[in-house]
Order: sequence, then structure tokens, then C-alpha cells
Amino acid sequence: MTSPPLSPRIDSLPKAELHLHLEGAIQPATALALMARYDVRATEQEVRQRYAFRNFPEFLETFKWLTSFLREPQDYALAATQLAEQLLAQNVVYAEVTLSVGVMLLRRQRPEASFEAVLRATEPFERRGLRLRWIFDAVRQFGAEAAMAVVESARSCASNAIVAFGIGGDELQVPTAAFRAVYERASEIGLHLLMHAGEVGGPEKIREAIELLGVERIGHGIAAIHDPALMDLLAERKIPLEICPQSNVKTGALARQLARDDVRIEDHPLPALFRHGIPVVLSTDDPGLFDTTLRGEYALAAQVGLQETELEEICSMGFRYAFGRSGE
Ligand SMILES: [Zn+2]
Repeated sequence: MTSPPLSPRIDSLPKAELHLHLEGAIQPATALALMARYDVRATEQEVRQRYAFRNFPEFLETFKWLTSFLREPQDYALAATQLAEQLLAQNVVYAEVTLSVGVMLLRRQRPEASFEAVLRATEPFERRGLRLRWIFDAVRQFGAEAAMAVVESARSCASNAIVAFGIGGDELQVPTAAFRAVYERASEIGLHLLMHAGEVGGPEKIREAIELLGVERIGHGIAAIHDPALMDLLAERKIPLEICPQSNVKTGALARQLARDDVRIEDHPLPALFRHGIPVVLSTDDPGLFDTTLRGEYALAAQVGLQETELEEICSMGFRYAFGRSGE
């Protein structure tokens, strides 16, 4: 991605990234390496064509295709090592990385084995200044029972490095209330609670996630812009939105929220949400699939009109609203 210039001062600040999927961080070259392990031959051009989805359903299809090459623990280890290198290169010193454990279970893999491999592969990066924590994620459209199995996997991994449970996928499917017992269980075993909401769905999905499930941060949440009372609630209760501008443009989520086709990054509600007093953490979501970087997202935030002091504040919120505090 060619980004507009970012001020050197903001660029030089150490950063935290809190909404980042391991699978979606896979770069085309890494995808090719994974495919080669299973004798699937393709050119980089063909992989890039797969990455060129035009809307949210196509994006979910690409995600499914890409994860079909994550078959063995060492595949996850490779993806994690590549991601850690990319983060360090951008001066990201802390990240909470989401693992699609729902997909692992669907493919009848053992999350314990893959997670162990990921931990082993990324441990050396701690010494290089990168602290990684993990979020176990269920797929909404697979339903409540499958989501409960993800929570139980987190419990059986028994690692302090797993800090939260979340749900992503198609938020237009399965009523929020269906996940109540799943979130209660996740909380009971000491996990923080997350959910993708108000990405393509309406503001009511955000409200439900907070009121029915006790979610502590909202993945995306850009639909809040349609509901001033909800914006007040997010600001008063200091519930952060994990904002991923480039993702919202590329998946068509922003176009859908604004009900028009011709959206540009300048149409993103980030400034309005942030200036309403809602905490915002800036993230890439799926940097491989969206051809973006955290540095690029800060540059986009500047492009949509945020001032340097505001960017600095957003940068510090990345640490303030992190779940894994120092020493944990
Ligand atoms: Zn996401």
C-alpha cells in the first residue's frame, strides 16, 4: 500500500496492536510457502488474485481458502514467525493476536498442539522486544456449541498468554443472545471478552454485545455512528472500538454502513467516533489480506483528519486498553 507520509514523531512511537488475525496476516509469499508444503503450486500473481476480494462474502471465502493451508502445527508456527517479524519491523512492541480456533476445530485439528507450536516459535521475539498475547476466536456462523468448544480449548491450553475470547465472522447470522452461556463460561475461566460487532451489522449488534454478553472491547463497531445514544454509552463506559480503516474499505463494510458504493477512506467515521470521546485502538485486522501495515493505518488516520496530538492519544490507548498488563 502506498501511504501518505506520517509524521516522523508518530512513526517513531512504540505501538501496540490489538485487533490482528494471525491467518489474515499471511503475506502472499508465506501463502505460497504453505501451499508448497502440500504440493499445491501457484504463482504469486494467482495468490494476489485470490486476495483481491470485492465484498464481505468474498473476503470470508478468501479467508477460508487461505486457512485451508494451515494444517499442521508447524504451519501455524511459520505464520506466527512471519507476523512477529513484520510487527518488530514497525516498532510494534505489544500485540494481541487473534487465532481462529473455531476454524481449527472445524478442520478437526488440535488447537493445543498448534498453539504450543506458535508459543515456541514466537518466544524468542520476547527478547527482541515484542510481547505477544493471544485471543481465541470462534466463528459466529458456526453457532453457540462450536463457540463453547473454542472456550474449552482455551481452558485446556491453560496458558497465561491467552488473554481473551472473541467471536468474529458473519455477524448477520445467529442472534447475539445465543452466545450468552459461552461468554459466561469464558469469563468464568478468566478470559476477557471481545466480539466483532457493528462491522457490517447495525448498532444494535454493538449494544447487544455489551448488554447481553459483557464484551469489553468491540471489534470494528463503526455502526455506532448511526446511534448517538450508543456513542454516549461507549464514551461513558470507556468501551474501546478496535478501528481498522483499510479493512472497512476493502471488505465493503464502510460502503455498507454508509449505504453507497463509492466510499473513500475520507468517509471513515474514525474522527467523529474518537472526538465523541470513545476510546479507539487502531489496528490492521488482516494486514496480509488487506495489504496494509499498522504504520499505514496511522497514516490513513492522519489522512482522514486526525491531528498529531490525537494520533499520539490513540497510540497510548493501544497500551491502555490492552488486556495483558506487564508482568502477566
Ligand atoms: Zn477482525
